[in-house]
Amino acid sequence: MPELPEVETVRRGLEPHMEGAKFERVELRRADLRFPFEDGFITSLEGQTITSVGRRAKYLQLDIENGLVLIMHLGMSGSFRVEASSAASQPGNFALPKGIHEKHDHVVFHLTDKSNNPVQVIYNDPRRFGYMALIARKDLETHKWFKDMGIEPIGNALDGAHLAMKFQNKKAPLKSALLDQKMIAGLGNIYVCEALWRSGLAPTRQAKTLAQKSGKPTAMAERLSGHIRDVINEAIEAGGSSLKDHRQTDGSLGYFQHRFAVYDREGENCLKPDCKGKISRMAQSGRSTFYCGTCQK
Ligand SMILES: [Zn+2]
Repeated sequence: MPELPEVETVRRGLEPHMEGAKFERVELRRADLRFPFEDGFITSLEGQTITSVGRRAKYLQLDIENGLVLIMHLGMSGSFRVEASSAASQPGNFALPKGIHEKHDHVVFHLTDKSNNPVQVIYNDPRRFGYMALIARKDLETHKWFKDMGIEPIGNALDGAHLAMKFQNKKAPLKSALLDQKMIAGLGNIYVCEALWRSGLAPTRQAKTLAQKSGKPTAMAERLSGHIRDVINEAIEAGGSSLKDHRQTDGSLGYFQHRFAVYDREGENCLKPDCKGKISRMAQSGRSTFYCGTCQK
């Protein structure tokens, strides 16, 4: 499943082609993905210009000049491919192998980009858990998908004080609290494991131990918030993390090159200098937690 870093990687791949581009024609090759396309989906987009290519948690958000936002979620196996006629003049940018499974190309956006070149952005999704919808920008904050969403794990909002404030009364295990999307949005299992390991914090410790009695953050909270930002940012730089079905929008692969320190390393040596521990695995809230019982307290 694409995690936040993959989605951000996709956003960065789409932005140069889609920002400022105009929808000339929208081609839906089926009536639905995970959900049916709503009535008027095509007519609301055709002839309109994309003003920005954003993201919130794992949702891509394309602002359209008519005040709507095109929401796109990749589900389990969604990916985009960009095909541009200007490719010949920009070698390297468009090393675009056609999808191996072109029968899973479900949506084709025929665009004119901001330099007036024709571009096709193709959405491919073998398992069809992805979805697209149009929501008015003014209704976005209160929409059910977004209204209870926590803060972004990258950016300035996430700091020790925020963690302490959110967790000060929580007896739940720290790992589970960090995966709560109402606390931090889009922070996935892999990255929580990595950030806890870097911080030397046991996944089972109570979340409220990140706050002092006064509600102020402990040193642990400060350390953890910094490591969360770092692991996510590093994964974005590496082009995302995990998914076999997934490819970057420029067609290049990069997902297997990113090595994790604890995730999926059960039984292997802890990579912390001076730690003689081995990585263990346990189940927490139905997810696998990987951790070092020696240096994570
Ligand atoms: Zn260790």
